[in-house]
Amino acid sequence: MNRVYNFAPGPSALPLPVLEKAAAELACYGDTGMSVMEMSHRSSMYLDIYRHAEALLREVMGVPEDYAVLFLPGGATAQFAAIPMNLMGEDGSADYIDSGNFAHGALVEAKKFGKVRVVASSREENYMRIPSWNEADFDPNAKYFHITTNNTIFGTRYTELPKTGKVPLAADMSSNILSERYNVSDFGVIYAGAQKNIGPAGMAIVIVRKDLLGQAQASTPKIYDWAKQAEAESMVNTPPTYTIYMAGLCLEWLKAQGGVEAIEKVNIEKAKLLYDFLDESKLFKGTADPAFRSRMNVTYVTGDKDRDADFVKQAAKAGLVNLKGHRLVGGIRASIYNAMPMEGVQALVSFMKEYEAHV
Ligand code: PMP
Repeated sequence: MNRVYNFAPGPSALPLPVLEKAAAELACYGDTGMSVMEMSHRSSMYLDIYRHAEALLREVMGVPEDYAVLFLPGGATAQFAAIPMNLMGEDGSADYIDSGNFAHGALVEAKKFGKVRVVASSREENYMRIPSWNEADFDPNAKYFHITTNNTIFGTRYTELPKTGKVPLAADMSSNILSERYNVSDFGVIYAGAQKNIGPAGMAIVIVRKDLLGQAQASTPKIYDWAKQAEAESMVNTPPTYTIYMAGLCLEWLKAQGGVEAIEKVNIEKAKLLYDFLDESKLFKGTADPAFRSRMNVTYVTGDKDRDADFVKQAAKAGLVNLKGHRLVGGIRASIYNAMPMEGVQALVSFMKEYEAHV
């Protein structure tokens, strides 16, 4: 087996022990005589798998009892719509911070369901930093306040949360969930597409304070209605059963690493190694404002598009793959989620040093 270091932004690298366990159990799970993929989602054997994944997520994130945990199809994009459908009410308004392309996508979607106020934006600065905000601009009567804690394309991360008082904070954590500690009680809703730190694609996790349930707009399709999904243990329809099982394996792996607190330390070290090199390099230059650098998505350029493309190509030949920046911004992006080991980042930095020495 010849595994590469995969720096893809999502779907992204999964821990090898997870893939190996899944492979070992692929055709026959335990003594059930069948694959997880072949199980009825209503069977007791599958419900055990579902409840195990939920319990692990609650444990590693410290999710309090008064929060529901949902595993829902459609990725984070489906939740861009579900957030307003569930929280906006029939004629409500919500505050959004526009800190990146996905943050923007979330607020554009929300406009279909109610009034959206953009209270801070770094769009004019090509999202190279988290915009600063003024609490006086926040609407105390907003139904919710939406942020994107890590901006996958631009490589920025919130270093502090806006203080929204009684207004519930709704956070898209797609690209940094489980990579650093958060206090779940600071949020009304946390949601995240699965395909970075949770497992394979096709699903989002939603963690929502229970008192926010049951207020969905009347036109909300039942599959998007969190209250109905919470009642049905995410089984209003047939859920992405295998993806949930894989998420359970990834959570087991994370727990074995020492949990979120332990992996956060490794993530800080990994990011520091790469940023320290970017800061001393004469060829490569980080593109995000250093005050808001993401620990998950490290974006950089050489200043020459052809050189960037050549670097990405040569790196791939050396087994360091998927380093091309997002098509919106170009350049180079190394996504270093939980499953990327320190050795992968060390190999990337060594390769960058060597590349720089030869051009
Ligand atoms: N939000 C963020 C921060 C993301 O990075 C992404 C995908 N990369 C999305 C939302 C969209 O997620 P999905 O493709 O799962 O709908």
